Amino acid sequence: MQNKPLSKAEVLAHLKIAQEKDEKYESGKIFCSMCTKPLSLAKKAHKLFLESNLGDKALFLGSNQLEKEVVAALAELLHCKNAVGFIVTGGTEANLMAMLVARDQANKEAPEVILPESAHFSFHKICRLLKLKPVFARLDPTFRVDVEHVKQLITKNTIALVGTAGSAELGTVDPIDKLSNIATNFGLHLHVDAAFGGLVLPFLDYTDNFETDFDFKLEGVQSITVDPHKMGMSTIPAGGILFRSSSFLRYLKTETPYLTDQAQYTFVGTRSAASVAATWATFQLLGREGFQKTVKKCMKLTMFLASKLEETGFEVLLRPSLNIVAFRGANSKLLTDKLREMGWFVSYVPRLDCVRVVIMPHSNRQHVKEFLQCIKKLHKPNLQQKL
Ligand code: PLP
Repeated sequence: MQNKPLSKAEVLAHLKIAQEKDEKYESGKIFCSMCTKPLSLAKKAHKLFLESNLGDKALFLGSNQLEKEVVAALAELLHCKNAVGFIVTGGTEANLMAMLVARDQANKEAPEVILPESAHFSFHKICRLLKLKPVFARLDPTFRVDVEHVKQLITKNTIALVGTAGSAELGTVDPIDKLSNIATNFGLHLHVDAAFGGLVLPFLDYTDNFETDFDFKLEGVQSITVDPHKMGMSTIPAGGILFRSSSFLRYLKTETPYLTDQAQYTFVGTRSAASVAATWATFQLLGREGFQKTVKKCMKLTMFLASKLEETGFEVLLRPSLNIVAFRGANSKLLTDKLREMGWFVSYVPRLDCVRVVIMPHSNRQHVKEFLQCIKKLHKPNLQQKL
């Protein structure tokens, strides 16, 4: 910290410079992010609640009520009105809470969790933190977890199965119905990581897409991650964790003797209510119809991009089930780097040697067309050799 204070104008000038260096969603060049530009009402709501701390709930009763209503809305959407949960910092914290509950409930000496090979990398952190042994189940040719392999991997030490509803790499949805049957038969906790897909799948138009149950409708599903700061178009940080029943909360409870509230259940203590208010505002403003409209727009663009890439000669790995397109060129890593040099942000997925494009609500048809024009140039035979 410098000795002399700066003036407000100087501070703001510095902040403006820093802010200008940040990429902007509205440029249309961000195709690698699972977050998006929040609705302007969400930003207004966020600002209104900047001082509210959900870690000290009795002081902030209004914020507390908003969190309850957001959780209730998610619970209804995911078919379990009695589900309980919290708005946390993101999918990582949500998955962590689910794994903590599963581990402590099972209470085994050398706990193992069975994950699809495509599980989000947050589970690597979580397994390290919770001293869980990750056991990876292979994927089938459609890039969804092979349920027969999951069954084979169950041992006396297994404490949970994880399925993904909208994988970060490809947007694939594991056969959660089959995982649910296995979990029920073996008495295991099934956690569904729907951080991305949880606010897409309920709004898909099933005339265009396959229909699959992934939520509490399935009796084996005990907890679900669903993040408003991804396809929920809310502000960061807004992850969501839901548990089928309040009986799970005892594994999360920490007494907080000198606060206004008796206990906390989240890892984060002091917790902003700002993104909770933003999520509440987004849900109210959009309703199911608004989400359906947004999801429809994203899926239409996704399919448009996938078909044009195929026409151009790229190999599209799979028919998108969510708003993610994965494709291969002659050298996908180099293609990703070239696109980056030209200002486009896409991801390279080493595990699958492919390029990944996420079509979020901030993208429109014009952006996709410009992207296609650029990628076509890179795919011209003479350049293709270099790639
Ligand atoms: N799970 C899935 C499927 C994700 O796509 C992500 C992030 O992209 C996460 C978990 C982690 O979420 P966060 O980055 O909000 O912690």
